[in-house]
Amino acid sequence: MRWGLIGASNIAANHMIGAIRAAGGEIRSVLSASADRAASYAAQHGIPHGYADLDAMLASDDLDAVYISTTNEKHLAQAMAAIAAGKHVLCEKPLAMTVADAITMVRAAEAAGLVFATNHHLRNAGSHIAIREAVQAGRIGKVLSARVFHAVYLPPVLHGWRLDNPAAGGGVIPDIVVHDADTVRFHLGEDPAEVVAIKAASGLGQGVEDSCMSVWTLPSGVMVQTHESFTHAYATTGFELHGTEGSIVARNVMTQQPVGQITLRTEAGEAALPFADHNLYVRALNLFHAAIRGEGRPAADGVDGVKSLAVAAAVAEAAETGRRVAVNYGGI
Ligand code: NDP
Repeated sequence: MRWGLIGASNIAANHMIGAIRAAGGEIRSVLSASADRAASYAAQHGIPHGYADLDAMLASDDLDAVYISTTNEKHLAQAMAAIAAGKHVLCEKPLAMTVADAITMVRAAEAAGLVFATNHHLRNAGSHIAIREAVQAGRIGKVLSARVFHAVYLPPVLHGWRLDNPAAGGGVIPDIVVHDADTVRFHLGEDPAEVVAIKAASGLGQGVEDSCMSVWTLPSGVMVQTHESFTHAYATTGFELHGTEGSIVARNVMTQQPVGQITLRTEAGEAALPFADHNLYVRALNLFHAAIRGEGRPAADGVDGVKSLAVAAAVAEAAETGRRVAVNYGGI
């Protein structure tokens, strides 16, 4: 599988270049807004070609797929160009700035018969797969509620547009709530219906929120409580599910690394839930390559990306207005 990288980003450098190669992919080219940066990034990562022009990169005709990891406001136009050129697309979250734009991308790929995936890494984690299996096996009975702890300290290397540029999709709601929405949907198999939320700029955010707390309802009656932040240096992340027959309490699992601890608590007592420690992004890439071969589906497809964005959009509206907001999935 021959890949082009759209965006000379940190996520590509730190995770995705290695993951694409580990999954057997060959990276042919990288696109940057700056020709110099394209060339230096290409040289640094052993990529044959650097481009500053997307059409030229797509016209080079040696790509099967593209990975889009530019800032969020660029995803729509770049995905549409890649789809028009017949490339499969793995796009970073949030897919776009609006749910309508995300639906446009996903429908275009569908109409062209191309695989479109969203890079929601958490559903690839051994920890979350083990939690999901335990829930599906009925080990905590009927689920009553979920708690998501996703307050972290944004690493200084990522300070920039996330903290000061709403036009590029900055703010903790587009950045992290989408992951929490995807994780809740992955575990519970249903889509959040209504949300209430409060946001704050608590130290890092300039013109965008750096912290958010929200409560969601699910159609089954499950309630979800979430906390996302860029300003919490010492709060461990976590995910909890509480049911009529038990609780699952997981710590340090809302992360890019295959780490964490999971405790299953039932009438019988407490037990550690074991899980696999494979690389999250390599698993996503393996599933994406398989989907292109016609074998199965990506870990998170385009519809998953639209739905996680829809939840984040509802949280943003609820936090802005102080009102309870129904999630609008745009008919998808
Ligand atoms: P970066 O800030 O690293 O990259 C975004 C853009 O900024 C790049 O495309 C690049 O522009 C420019 N840029 C980056 N570094 C430099 C630099 N040193 N000098 C000049 N320009 C630079 O963003 P992230 O990698 O953090 O995020 C990119 C996308 O990936 C976002 O959509 C984000 O939400 C998503 N993401 C997803 C994660 C996941 O685990 N699924 C984790 C992290 C991010 P150009 O290409 O024009 O050179």
